[in-house]
Amino acid sequence: MVDEKKLQDAVKKTVSRDDVKYVVGYEKGTYGFQVTPSFAYDPKDADKFIFSPLCVYNLAVFPMLEEKPPLRKDQEPDTRKIGVVVKGCDARAIVQILQEKGLNREDVVIIGIPCTGVVDPKKLQAQFPENGKNMDIKTGKDNFIITIDEKTHTIAQDKLLDEKCKHCEYPTPILYDILIGDEIKATKKEDYKEIEDLEKKSMKEKWEYWEKQFERCIRCYACRNACPLCYCKECMVDQLSPQWVRRSVNLSENTAWNLLRAFHLAGRCIGCGQCERSCPMDIPLMQLNKKIEKEIKELFDYIAGIDPEEKPLLAMFKPDDPEEFIL
Ligand code: SF4
Ligand code: SF4
Ligand code: SF4
Repeated sequence: MVDEKKLQDAVKKTVSRDDVKYVVGYEKGTYGFQVTPSFAYDPKDADKFIFSPLCVYNLAVFPMLEEKPPLRKDQEPDTRKIGVVVKGCDARAIVQILQEKGLNREDVVIIGIPCTGVVDPKKLQAQFPENGKNMDIKTGKDNFIITIDEKTHTIAQDKLLDEKCKHCEYPTPILYDILIGDEIKATKKEDYKEIEDLEKKSMKEKWEYWEKQFERCIRCYACRNACPLCYCKECMVDQLSPQWVRRSVNLSENTAWNLLRAFHLAGRCIGCGQCERSCPMDIPLMQLNKKIEKEIKELFDYIAGIDPEEKPLLAMFKPDDPEEFIL
C-alpha cells in the first residue's frame, strides 16, 4: 500500500519549487471506480492526490504533450520542470524518451511509486458493472478489497490484475528523484505465452486474425495520443505530401496504420499498455507490441527503457556489421 500522505507531501514539496511548473498525478474521479489525472499548480492541490490499483494511466505522456507555442521576440520560453508521478512501467517510458533525447533529464522531476500492480478496468467493469458514488479498491495480501457503498468484497488478485502486471519485471521505477515507499524487488518474468500461441498459427490464419482486428479500427488515433512514445512533431499519418496512409477508414489503410505504428515503436515500446487500454474498439494492440518486443529481445538482447545512458536500439550500428540481410 502506498502512503498517500507521503505522496502528497512529496508533491507539495515539488510544486513549491520555483523551477517546477506543475506536478501531474492521480485523483479520484467523479463516479464509479474512475481515477483521473490530476494537476497540482499549487501546494494545496496536492491534497487530492491518491494512489491505488485504479491508477492505470501512464502519466509520462504529459511532459510530451506540453505545448511549446511560438514566442514573441521579447518573450522568454518557460523552462520550468514538470513533475510526474510514475509507476515502474511508466518510468521506463521516461527512460526511453531520455535515451532518444525527446526530453532532457532536467526537464522532469520524477516521483516514483514502487508498484504491486493495477487492475484491468475491463475486468473490473465485468465483475462490478454498477456505478455508485462510493467505490474504491485497495490491494490486500493476495487479493483486492473492493468497497461499494460501504459493502466490502474480496476478490483474488489474479481475477482483476492487468495482464502486464502478471509478468512485471520492473515494479520499482528505474529512475526517480523521490521514491514513495520501499523498493519492490521483481519476482516475475515475461513468458510471452500468449505470443507463442499466436506464433503457432499458419500465415493464413494470422492474416485472417489480424484482418478481423484491423477492419474494426476507426482510426480515432486514441492509441497514438495516449502513448508516451508517440511524440513525433508530425505523425506520418497526418502528412499530406507525401501521403503515406490515406485517411479513408478501410482494411488496407487501417492495416497500414496499425503496422506502421507498431514498427515505429519497435525497440521503443515499454509495454505500459496505454494504447490498448485507450482503444475504443478493443483491438489487441499489445499482441503486436509484445511480438516485436520478443523478437528484439531474441535478436539483439535489447530491452527498451531500462538504461538512460544506452543508445536507442535503432540509433546504433557497427561499421563491421556483416549486413547479411542486404541482398
Ligand atoms: S507493470 Fe509493473 S509497474 Fe506497471 S502497473 Fe503493473 S506491476 Fe505496476
Ligand atoms: S485506438 Fe484503436 S480504433 Fe483508434 S486508431 Fe488506435 S487501433 Fe484504431
Ligand atoms: S505502444 Fe502502447 S504499450 Fe507501447 S509505450 Fe506506447 S502506449 Fe505503451
